[in-house]
Amino acid sequence: MSVYIVMLGPPGAGKGTQAAVLAKKLAIPHISTGDLFRHHMREKSELGRLAQSFIDRGDLVPDEVTIAMVRERLAQPDCRRGAILDGFPRTTAQAEAIEHTLQDVCRGCVRLVPFVTAPAATLVDRLAGRLTCRAKGHVYHRTLNPPRVAGTCDVDGSELYQRDDDSEETVRRRIQVYSEQTTPLIEYYRDKGMLVEIDGDRPIEDVTADLMAAVKAD
Ligand code: ADP
Ligand code: ADP
Repeated sequence: MSVYIVMLGPPGAGKGTQAAVLAKKLAIPHISTGDLFRHHMREKSELGRLAQSFIDRGDLVPDEVTIAMVRERLAQPDCRRGAILDGFPRTTAQAEAIEHTLQDVCRGCVRLVPFVTAPAATLVDRLAGRLTCRAKGHVYHRTLNPPRVAGTCDVDGSELYQRDDDSEETVRRRIQVYSEQTTPLIEYYRDKGMLVEIDGDRPIEDVTADLMAAVKAD
């Protein structure tokens, strides 16, 4: 049976960190829309250029563009057994689109939506110290989750950098955009009986243990 999981929660809650661990444990791809956009921006593709201005401001990239990008990714054969969606959907229109895409393209559906939470002060601290790897987007934190060698990714040895949109001002905007545009999805998925609340304000391993329990209970 295919396992499609949507990671929901504010920026900095730990969605990406946990999605990477779950993807490995479940042997399904980790699809991060943020990583896909950053890849396009590095390649300076048309999509990358379009996304850049929205991302720099901390606003959402328009639904049409985002949905088309995810649809294309989900059509790839490695997604047939399932996927962990990280950072998508972020609007109700995206949530409706993903249902159709999974039915048409993958013959599956979203089964589980972990809603990872943490207090606002924790989110700001985490994003301010987040370090991201240039090659594949592996995520660390200067003090809370440091790499073994400073400035270098443990997994692929590439350089770690601070994302431009992790600046204080843009983080504030992103948290506001999350409250306005993404929080309606909490009720959307609660009504469907898919939402599982996960306290993300604990050590990474403890959060993973709760997530794995939710997957097994599904
Ligand atoms: P999101 O994808 O929800 O925006 P990330 O997974 O990128 O969040 O995590 C944000 C930052 O917080 C990163 O620097 C990451 O290393 C750190 N982090 C993630 N989970 C935890 C945790 N449980 N405890 C401490 N730091 C964490
Ligand atoms: P974080 O993990 O900190 O929430 P992401 O890497 O998921 O950040 O996203 C970075 C930026 O990429 C967002 O602020 C937004 O501009 C854009 N983005 C990512 N996913 C989406 C989406 N599903 N819809 C619209 N814009 C998105």
